[in-house]
Amino acid sequence: MLNTAAENKLKLIDPYNRFLNYLRISIIDRCNLKCMYCVPDGKIPKLSHLEILSYEELLRIITVGAQLGISKVRITGGEPLVRKNVFPFLEKITAIKALSDVSLTTNGVLLIDSVDALRSAGIKRINVSLDTLDRAKYKTVTGRDHFDRVWAGILAAQKAGFYPIKLNMVVLSGINEDEFLDFARLSFTYPFHIRFIEYMPIGNPRMKFNRDILAPEIKRRLEAIGELIPAEKEDLSGPAERYRFKGAMGEIGFIRPISRHFCGSCNRLRLTASGQIRTCLLSDDQVDLKGPMRKGCSDNELAEILIKSIRHKPSEHHLLADQEPKVSSEMSAIGG
Ligand code: SAM
Repeated sequence: MLNTAAENKLKLIDPYNRFLNYLRISIIDRCNLKCMYCVPDGKIPKLSHLEILSYEELLRIITVGAQLGISKVRITGGEPLVRKNVFPFLEKITAIKALSDVSLTTNGVLLIDSVDALRSAGIKRINVSLDTLDRAKYKTVTGRDHFDRVWAGILAAQKAGFYPIKLNMVVLSGINEDEFLDFARLSFTYPFHIRFIEYMPIGNPRMKFNRDILAPEIKRRLEAIGELIPAEKEDLSGPAERYRFKGAMGEIGFIRPISRHFCGSCNRLRLTASGQIRTCLLSDDQVDLKGPMRKGCSDNELAEILIKSIRHKPSEHHLLADQEPKVSSEMSAIGG
């Protein structure tokens, strides 16, 4: 437990009065896909086992974070399901009483074999990244022929009772623009939340960044199917702008980091696989937690480092639609 002095430091409130209660954790930098926008030049330097945080270290950070007000945790990667013994680790996180929401983002490749273990570990909702519904295109985008496995995994997850299942489609100019309607139509047949994510020009500098297919244009195209009715705000809906077609089982969401960034209400902190706290996905500033922990810092000292790290959270990012794209670090290390 933290001592009262640290507890009284009034949680993780940054200089812009944002209460940071959401921790996104990349538990491994490795991935079983090689997505064209995530992997510059087909290669990412891999961290060694010793360089990534151990499960004990991760749990310690989550526990201290929870004492400072973190109530929501997302596990991501790399691909979180490729890390050995991930399920007992997840079970320990979902057992932390102060956390009201623990979720996972996966590419779905290993989902079909993981649904039962994920449920038993206490995970109730998942996000699956899926940029195309076309098997051949999937292979081009990800470098692997796993579309059928992923789709089977998504259906297995639905059967096992995960809700909501959010399907995240990153909009890639000239690659999946022709599939907006196909993705949107899934919301009539399945209770999935289909989310169109504006591509952020980071990661692979060779990817085309097209300002013409941001959320307003995608929404305009989707309205060929029917009227998009705004969905009611929910506690866990995050920054997505949510809609529903009349009579649909699922939802349509737009994540708009470019056309309407949500920095003013950003409540996120990110922990990289190598133990660095990042206060903004689009800034390379980071604060080391691994070094102090491995040198034997106390929980109070760890809490102090976390509290200090948020002083540098920028008021907003600089990827606005009218500015030049900036290329930052790789997503696999940070977790998206
Ligand atoms: N392997 C997991 C997965 O595929 O969901 C988790 C890690 S992945 C880096 C997390 C998310 O970041 C994915 O949905 C991916 O599509 C998204 N992402 C990666 N690069 C992106 C970019 N440049 N712009 C927008 N989203 C991106």
